[in-house]
Amino acid sequence: MISFPIFSGEDTEIIAELKKNLHEIQLDINSAAASVGRDPADVLMVAVSKAVDVPQVQAALEAGIHDFGENRTKALRERQQAFPRQNWHYIGHIQTNKLKDVVGRACLIHSVANERALETIGRLAKEQDACQSVLLEVNVSGEESKDGVRADELPQLLERASTISHIAVKGLMTMAPRLLTSEDTVARHTFVALRELRDKMVSVFDGAENISLNELSMGMSNDFVYAIQEGATIVRIGRRLWS
Ligand SMILES: *Cc1c(COP(=O)(O)O)cnc(C)c1O
Repeated sequence: MISFPIFSGEDTEIIAELKKNLHEIQLDINSAAASVGRDPADVLMVAVSKAVDVPQVQAALEAGIHDFGENRTKALRERQQAFPRQNWHYIGHIQTNKLKDVVGRACLIHSVANERALETIGRLAKEQDACQSVLLEVNVSGEESKDGVRADELPQLLERASTISHIAVKGLMTMAPRLLTSEDTVARHTFVALRELRDKMVSVFDGAENISLNELSMGMSNDFVYAIQEGATIVRIGRRLWS
């Protein structure tokens, strides 16, 4: 479907504001990458659109954004249906009975953290004769409130994943504890730990056909600079973009 949005004055202001924020974020991505000799083109920014409405998504499209992240299955389904040519990332908590809204619609599911979710995704993808790309979410910091598999449980989950068809495990995802001060090093330690865990798992699951682990989805508005310096290939940015 081709749509010809007609923008009001207010909309053009939203787009200008978004472009400005996007430009500033891109400069930070560039300098974070440059500081460790990485190519900024190797970092994908996912615009987390969970807290904004559809006109803002439309404005983001106009500003040149094509990757969006949602943490509710219903929103992911509706927005993917409304904007099917964009890349929709699912970054929210997984309830297996709601995965049917996500599998085949999300370009990447970032938040898989147990065998049941893997099995359900595999089954739903098989029904569509598709292959669903996923990341495994790791609770590196071990905070009880956080989703994600514990680091010591990851090998078993990968082992199971290697036996399920119609899924491809592309990497790992984590969320750092909230930054307490601008000098906080906990976030950086979390990102280092995820990268090291990934490196270890790559050597163990070297031969598994559907496991590649190239992607590290880590870093949000407050801590993405650290994440990029420690190897993030995907950063998930919400507040800083839309504010
Ligand atoms: C909300 C959310 C983000 C974005 O957080 P900001 O601080 O707004 O950048 C990133 N990842 C996940 C999993 C989220 O739920």
